[in-house]
Amino acid sequence: MELTQPISVQRVQQSRLQEVDFSNLGFGTYVADHMLVCDYKQGEWQAPAIMPFGNLTLSPTSLALHYGQTVFEGMKAFRMQDGRINLFRVHKHHERLSRSLDRMAMAIVPEDVFVEGLRQLISLDKDWIPTAPGTALYIRPFAYASEAKFGVKVSDEYKFVIFSGPVAAAFQKPLRVRVETQYVRAARGGTGAAKCGGNYGGAFYPTTKAKEAGYDQVLWTDAKENKYIEESGMMNAVFVIDGTVVTPPLSDSILDGVTRDSLLTVARDLGIPVEERLVSIEELEKAFRQHTITEAFGAGTAAIVAPIGTICIHDIDYQLPAYDAQAIMFRLRDQLEAIRTGQAADKHHWNYVL
Ligand SMILES: *Cc1c(COP(=O)(O)O)cnc(C)c1O
Repeated sequence: MELTQPISVQRVQQSRLQEVDFSNLGFGTYVADHMLVCDYKQGEWQAPAIMPFGNLTLSPTSLALHYGQTVFEGMKAFRMQDGRINLFRVHKHHERLSRSLDRMAMAIVPEDVFVEGLRQLISLDKDWIPTAPGTALYIRPFAYASEAKFGVKVSDEYKFVIFSGPVAAAFQKPLRVRVETQYVRAARGGTGAAKCGGNYGGAFYPTTKAKEAGYDQVLWTDAKENKYIEESGMMNAVFVIDGTVVTPPLSDSILDGVTRDSLLTVARDLGIPVEERLVSIEELEKAFRQHTITEAFGAGTAAIVAPIGTICIHDIDYQLPAYDAQAIMFRLRDQLEAIRTGQAADKHHWNYVL
């Protein structure tokens, strides 16, 4: 890909790679050697620069700090079976970043800066990509309003940054989640479909309350009636009811998860019935009573699938049956993993191989 402005590269003098304990990666413990930074000013994106990972400087009046114009992405690079590197669904992530930026009235990062920036950055830090099953290089592209001016306004300047770090899969032990009917994550017409920092900031308080009560996450409900399930924590919520994979339809209060889309597509490919439709709390209660609900899980890049073991509805803990390797969620996860590592055909062209 030809960039209008070439990316300058300043390499680290000494890699930090040997500090990494690859047998105990955790999530968010390590950051790779380099980052990419690109500035938007005077109506234009400037030349991107790859440099050693380090602190950014910013003015106390930077608009992002006050009025919350910040947006991010989360994606993963995998080591394929033949040793090549795969950036998973890079174009879909760029599409979503663009939608989030647009919703927050921020400047759109050009696709070539995003894709070519990732390609060069991840090629440079390729030795940071772990190889054990379930591990990956987590990539965090983000943008924020960098204009230094404390009057309330849409920023005229932005900074786009990408860094990465090796991770193990998050949330592997079954989660205890509580249906939330007091607080909401997102409302119709709001920013729920944008991956913006404020959605997370607003979710911490109810999540902390749920944690104090012994739960890991909240199962969000709709803002209007608190009747329909929306998402699980910061993941899309998926259920298996009567052998059908059921998930709430996309809306402006549900984030269009790349993992959600990938798992649903894989399910359809495997001949497993899929329904994108409203799921009410009442339906879940009934399904528990009739034992027709067999699985519940969160879907997101960090965990891929995060099994849910317990759902608390109106102060009653309902238990999901124990999961074995035959669970639909694990079959979908494993098929997705096979596509990413090159062991299964990539018929939807999801892999961007370096
Ligand atoms: C990021 C995110 C997801 C998951 O999206 P993926 O693309 O699958 O990682 C789901 N819900 C919310 C609210 C999110 O921010």
